[in-house]
Amino acid sequence: MTTILGCIADDFTGACDLAGLLARSGVKVNLRLGVPDTLPSDTAAFEVIALKCRTAPVDEAVAECRAALAWLKQAGAARFFWKYCSTFDSTAVGNIGPVAEALMADLGVSQTIYCPAFPENGRSIFMGNLFVGTQLLAESPMKDHPLTPMRDSNLMRLLTPQTTAPVGLADRLCVASGADALQARLRELSKEGVAHVVVDAVADDDLKTIAKACCDMPLLTGGSAVAMPLPALYIAQGLLAKNADKSTVPQVGAGAIILSGSCSAMTRAQVESYANMAPSYQLDPLDLAQNGAQKACDWLAAQPLDAAPMIYATAKPATVQKAQDQLGVARAGAVIEQALAALAIEARNRGARRFVVAGGETSGAVAKALGVTQMTIGAEIAPGVPWGYGQSDGVDIALALKSGNFGTTQFFSDALTELEV
Ligand code: ADP
Repeated sequence: MTTILGCIADDFTGACDLAGLLARSGVKVNLRLGVPDTLPSDTAAFEVIALKCRTAPVDEAVAECRAALAWLKQAGAARFFWKYCSTFDSTAVGNIGPVAEALMADLGVSQTIYCPAFPENGRSIFMGNLFVGTQLLAESPMKDHPLTPMRDSNLMRLLTPQTTAPVGLADRLCVASGADALQARLRELSKEGVAHVVVDAVADDDLKTIAKACCDMPLLTGGSAVAMPLPALYIAQGLLAKNADKSTVPQVGAGAIILSGSCSAMTRAQVESYANMAPSYQLDPLDLAQNGAQKACDWLAAQPLDAAPMIYATAKPATVQKAQDQLGVARAGAVIEQALAALAIEARNRGARRFVVAGGETSGAVAKALGVTQMTIGAEIAPGVPWGYGQSDGVDIALALKSGNFGTTQFFSDALTELEV
C-alpha cells in the first residue's frame, strides 16, 4: 500500500506513542526501528520510523532524519510528521529545530508548526508555554530529567536558539476561532517570514482544528496527539479508503519481563507498585560500572518468567545525581542501558516473549539489542502506549515501549493483562 503519511520519531517510545494513536483509526501502522537498509516493501498507509536521536548531536540527528525522510519518500509519502516528546525534551543544543529546518529544506517548504500538546496525557500549550498537568514544564518533574532537564517552559524561547529562521505563535484565541482563522494566521506569519510556528492547544478539539487547518502542509511537527485526527481527515479527503489496510497480529508466548530505566516520576510510582506484585531486582549503576551485569543475569536465571519479573534502574533524583557525579551523565546512562539490553537478550533466550520496557532511551537500547527492526501496532494499553509485535532472533515477541511519564500507577500489570496469553 502506498504510504500516505511518513513519520519520523526521535525515540522509540515516541514512535510507539504516535503509531498507537494513528492505529486508533483501525488503519494499519508499521513501525520501523531505525531507517531500513532495504528499499520500501510491504508498506502501510502509515509508516513510522523510530530513531534514537533525541539527545544525539545535531549533525548526527539531521543526517539520520534526512535518511528517514528519503526512505519515506520512496515509500510514496507526500506528507511527513516530525515527532518529538510532548515535554519537548531538548536542550539549547538540542536538535528539534535543526532537524525541522533540514526536513523543510529537503521538502522545499518555508513553514511548519510545532505542537507537542497531548491533552489526554496532561500536556497543553497556552501562549506558547507548555504545561504538564497543572504545572509549567519547568516547574514539573521534567526539570530533573537525567538527560534533558527542562528549565524553561516557553516553546518559542526553547526553539529560537535552535533555528536560523524566525519563530512565531498562533495562540489559543486563534485556534479557538477555527481552522480558517488558523490558516489565515499561518499565512500572515508566513508573510512576516516566520518559518516556525508554535501552535497553542489545550484540549482535543484544538488538535482537531489544528490538524484540519494543517493536514495539507507537507511537514508537521509535534507530539503524537496532533497527528491523531489525520487518518479521519485523509479518509474524508479520499486519500485513504475507510476499511483499507487493516492490521493482524501474531499470538506470542507467555513468558514476560519488565525492564525499567526511566527515572520519571510516573515510572517511579509504577516500579514501586509493581515491586509489591512480582519478583524485582534493582540495578546499581556504580556496581554495574565496576562489575558488569553478571549478578543481575544470575538473579534473572533464577526467576520463573511466567511470574513476569522486573529489573529496574529507576531511582530518585538524588540517587541519580550521585551516580552521575561519580560516573558522568553519559556513562551512568550508558552502563544501565547496556545492562538492560543484555538482560533483555538473556530473558528472550530463557523464553520471555512479552517485554514491557519503561524509558525512551532504555526502550531504544532494548529493542536494538533484541534486533527488532519492524513492529506492527496492536492494542493500546494506556494513551500513547500500544503493544507492538515484531521478531527477535526468529521468534514472535510483543513489546510495550513506554515513555517515562506515560501510563497510570498500575501500568506494568495493565500491560500484562491487556496481552494475556
Ligand atoms: P524517560 O523516558 O523517563 O526519559 P529514558 O530511558 O529516556 O527515560 O532516560 C533515562 C536515562 O536515565 C537513561 O539513560 C538511563 O540509563 C538513565 N538512568 C536510569 N537509572 C539511572 C540511575 N539510577 N542513575 C543514573 N542514570 C540512570
